Amino acid sequence: MRHRRSIDLMPREDAAEHGSTLAQLPEWYVLVARCAKCRHQGHIDRRLIGRKCGYDLSLNALARTLKCSRCNNGEGNKLLLGKLPRD
Ligand SMILES: [Zn+2]
Repeated sequence: MRHRRSIDLMPREDAAEHGSTLAQLPEWYVLVARCAKCRHQGHIDRRLIGRKCGYDLSLNALARTLKCSRCNNGEGNKLLLGKLPRD
């Protein structure tokens, strides 16, 4: 049985043209945070963030608020965009 990776991660900069706020981000993108210290990766629930911080929150601002759930590091964390397959 073959497994296909369904989500391709890319640096946020590469997808900047697709939108700079939560509201502008196409819905087939998922947000993934990566810790600068321990490399832990975790999915971010867009709707949860949107409800909490507002959909006008910019991705840059969001990246600054990221905190690692494993080692608690809050500095230099990266926000990545994952692209869901579209059928
Ligand atoms: Zn960490």
